Amino acid sequence: MTITDIDVCDKIVANFETVIKTPKKNTSSIYYTGVDLGTACIVLAVMDENYQPVAGAYRYADVVRDGMVVDYIGAITIVKELKAELEVKLETELIYAAAAIPPGTDELDSGAIKNVVQGAGFYLTNILDEPTAANQVLQIQNGAVVDIGGGTTGISIIKNGEVVKIGDEATGGTHLTLVTAGAYGISVPEAEKYKRNQKNHAELIAVLKPVVEKIATIISSQIEGYAIDGLYLVGGTACLTGIESIIEEKTKIVTYKPFNPMFVTPLGIALSCTDKIL
Ligand code: ATP
Repeated sequence: MTITDIDVCDKIVANFETVIKTPKKNTSSIYYTGVDLGTACIVLAVMDENYQPVAGAYRYADVVRDGMVVDYIGAITIVKELKAELEVKLETELIYAAAAIPPGTDELDSGAIKNVVQGAGFYLTNILDEPTAANQVLQIQNGAVVDIGGGTTGISIIKNGEVVKIGDEATGGTHLTLVTAGAYGISVPEAEKYKRNQKNHAELIAVLKPVVEKIATIISSQIEGYAIDGLYLVGGTACLTGIESIIEEKTKIVTYKPFNPMFVTPLGIALSCTDKIL
């Protein structure tokens, strides 16, 4: 992947941010929705018939832990509400959806995610693993997708455009929140809020550097033995300003961070949605 390609990724993410604020209605005869059920956040991304973003919505929620649906009813309720919200904005019914599962999640949980999407009133048309979804947007040929989420960091190695190895290890945003709470003497929910505010990142990054270095060490051990052209950061924790420099410095591998890494996977899921019901 070149800088030009990351530009393509950044453009689609920027378009998505625009349509979250101002949805584009009456532009399509069919709509494709991507449903991303995360540990910290549920995101719905809607594409038109040309696979361009037309609307999106997200909500912070606590219904999934490390890729497992722990609050089934809560997950269905939120997806239903976000779907309804988008249907009002687009003045249409959203019928087709795709979803993703974290790499290595067993069939049982893919069943749970399938049931959540169907329980919210969608026809499920595709279910794929998260790095494959992210790579629909990133279009990496040789490199690693590093998904730094809430509970874990997932490393997926891509060779010739295909995921050839996956790894998922504990250490992610939750650990950064705990360190923030300890360093500032504030509660965990307060620390979570503080950490998400970009205005605090310049100061926070120094406090959080040791944990980010641990994430970098995890990345290095996961990619050992593979020729990696670049690391591509996705996931909510990758939003932390400066995280890419620490990772690049420690791993010694060129590190790309898309504009708003939190939306790469949901957009890739939406790009994988079709009108063929599973
Ligand atoms: P997992 O991959 O562990 O299942 P997930 O898919 O829910 O989790 P994401 O939604 O990608 O994870 O990321 C959630 C994490 O991202 C949380 O720890 C949250 O605090 C962090 N996060 C979200 N926005 C920001 C931000 N602006 N700055 C720093 N961290 C952020």
